[in-house]
Amino acid sequence: MGAGQEASGLGHRSGKVQGAGVLAFVVLLAAAVLAAIGLVAAASAQGAPDAPAALVQRLTPEVLAEIFPGATGVRELADGGPPAASVHSGETLVGYAFSTLDVLRAPGYSTTPFDIVAGVTLKGQVTGAKVLFHREPYLINDTHRTRLLTELLGSLAGLEARVGAVGALPPQHVAGATISARAMRNAVLEGAGIVLRFRSGAQIVTEPTVDTLNFRPMTAEELIADGSLRQVIVTNADLERIMAEAGLAGHELEVEPWGKPEAIYIDFRVGYANPPTIGRNGAGQWSFDHLTEERPPGTHALILASHGRYDFRGSKYRNMSHGFRLERLQVIQGEKTFEFTAQDLIGANYALGRVAHLVILPQSGGFDPFAPWRAEVHATARAPDGTEKRFLLAAADYVLPDRYVLLPEPAPTPAWVEAWQEGARDVAILAAALGLLTVGLAYQQRIVRNRALYRWVRLGFLSFTLVWIGWIAGAQLSIVHLINYLAAPLGDLDLAFYLAEPLIVILSLYTLASLVWLGRGVFCGWLCPFGAMQELLANIARALRVPQWNPSERLQTRLWNLKYVILAVVVTLAFTAPDAGAVAAEVEPFKTAITAIFDRALPYLLWALVLLTAGLVTERAFCRFLCPLGAALAILDRLHIVELLERKPECGAPCRLCERSCPVKAIGRSGTIKMNECFQCLDCMVEFHDDRRCPPLAKLRKQATRAAAAPPIGGHA
Ligand code: SF4
Ligand code: SF4
Repeated sequence: MGAGQEASGLGHRSGKVQGAGVLAFVVLLAAAVLAAIGLVAAASAQGAPDAPAALVQRLTPEVLAEIFPGATGVRELADGGPPAASVHSGETLVGYAFSTLDVLRAPGYSTTPFDIVAGVTLKGQVTGAKVLFHREPYLINDTHRTRLLTELLGSLAGLEARVGAVGALPPQHVAGATISARAMRNAVLEGAGIVLRFRSGAQIVTEPTVDTLNFRPMTAEELIADGSLRQVIVTNADLERIMAEAGLAGHELEVEPWGKPEAIYIDFRVGYANPPTIGRNGAGQWSFDHLTEERPPGTHALILASHGRYDFRGSKYRNMSHGFRLERLQVIQGEKTFEFTAQDLIGANYALGRVAHLVILPQSGGFDPFAPWRAEVHATARAPDGTEKRFLLAAADYVLPDRYVLLPEPAPTPAWVEAWQEGARDVAILAAALGLLTVGLAYQQRIVRNRALYRWVRLGFLSFTLVWIGWIAGAQLSIVHLINYLAAPLGDLDLAFYLAEPLIVILSLYTLASLVWLGRGVFCGWLCPFGAMQELLANIARALRVPQWNPSERLQTRLWNLKYVILAVVVTLAFTAPDAGAVAAEVEPFKTAITAIFDRALPYLLWALVLLTAGLVTERAFCRFLCPLGAALAILDRLHIVELLERKPECGAPCRLCERSCPVKAIGRSGTIKMNECFQCLDCMVEFHDDRRCPPLAKLRKQATRAAAAPPIGGHA
């Protein structure tokens, strides 16, 4: 900063007259520019959708072409569902258009809901989205961020709303307005889902549920091939092997096989019958209607069928004396075993087998359609001595395919969690930088003793602050953040809202902690991108020998107070007249110079350039005299508990070296430091520890040198 100011001979007196002229010009130009900004901002605040036009009127041909390419017309829907318009290509319905304002009334960073119109196809793909209105403070009159937001919303086109923003640009794409961008992106996806769900008749479930609505005609072979049914075939040869393995070779069977070894003894087919695609296709319309209309809701049924000589029902199931039991069949699920009687059977058509039934499971049996189960068919073999032994003939393991299970839509990840997950890399970079800064400040005495090292550290960190924190990450703390924090207790305290900007959260907390630790200067001197920009430019100006000017002590005191007046005006307007407050907050050039990187309308550009120009002749002129955030931090500076900057009895009288070295004139004639105006730049500490420039140290050094050079007492010359 100004460490070399004295040495370079660019003292404040040298350019006094020229500097005063420049400042007067700057003040006049500033007034004109601020007025222009007011007009532009006021004009842009018009058109708020307190009573928005009907959706079809907002969907002008230009807007429709943007959000639903290929559409030829829209019709407002009055079907009792979420507000939307049907979108047509010729006479064909191709999708829906909706407004996030009508469907969700979702607010972004401001409390005013924005209005984005968007389209969604009948299959649920977003076709496009366009912002019609918003009052987002970090997007208003910001062409750069607005362009980035348009790119982000454009990246939603083609994505399935149900799946979420996978594949879209992240909210960080709109650096510095990530809360707004995230809210807008999510509103488009959520709105598309709401509008489509109602009109597609899709079942909305809150827990895994069997899909009992959808139906697709399929043949028995197709049902088997895709796993909707399981099939187990036992040939005569298989039967012989099974009996041999069970030690039953040569035993007599209740139903003897017939024919060649490859002839089918039983072809057993099983499935869960409640999904219409399985039940209706497998058992036939009549049987399935009987299940759904004659049986109590929630009844579970299986479909069981067989070809071949062996009948899975057995031979006595019609026999009352036998209890109508299907003695050959059992269904096992976990610890439960289900057995059946003839009363549990509903006849089915023969599409699946010579013998085909829907089999009703007991209501209180606890059958779980989502858990695996197994259907077993048993047979009985009789030994030559007449003893009978039952053995397992065929077992079909079944699990209901996922396509027949409706799952509840996953709860969306909270926006703030998503923001921290997506911003993990930036969080790590910022945390590392803040860690370095903390260590550097804690051990500042070691750094300031080496003037060259200090200068590199200082310029390096300021460059990082400007380029990475400011221009790349867009993490410029602003008076708007402070106002939002102040407003928090006045409304419903929504912590998630404040947590949704990780870098701003971290910077805010660090600034608060450093305020209590060392004072306002840690943020203003090291972490404010616009402050860093002013200081880096001032270094260049001094290198180019631009004359420097500083106000007299009396005038400086008055100018210092100006920023408190501005702070009071900005905060008051923010709480009483938000639109005017947004205009007043434009006194900060942060949006223009940092987050929009000078891509804004001319009045804003002029204002930023005026302030930067002023900073070339009067270091940090904006910080010292105008900045409302700096003023707020200066007020809170009283909280600080540690005095980092040392003083000697000689500071102020007779020595004024530190006072002259302070680039922002925070050291008074008495040598005391006005901490709420100090930027912790450490320039004065470089002088303080310089035993060639600080007179008391220089004197001590000379004494030490003389003592070293003096002949020892009693020695010889
Ligand atoms: S006074 Fe304002 S612009 Fe200057 S460093 Fe502090 S916050 Fe940034
Ligand atoms: S008093 Fe503060 S602002 Fe001035 S030189 Fe020292 S550290 Fe920097």
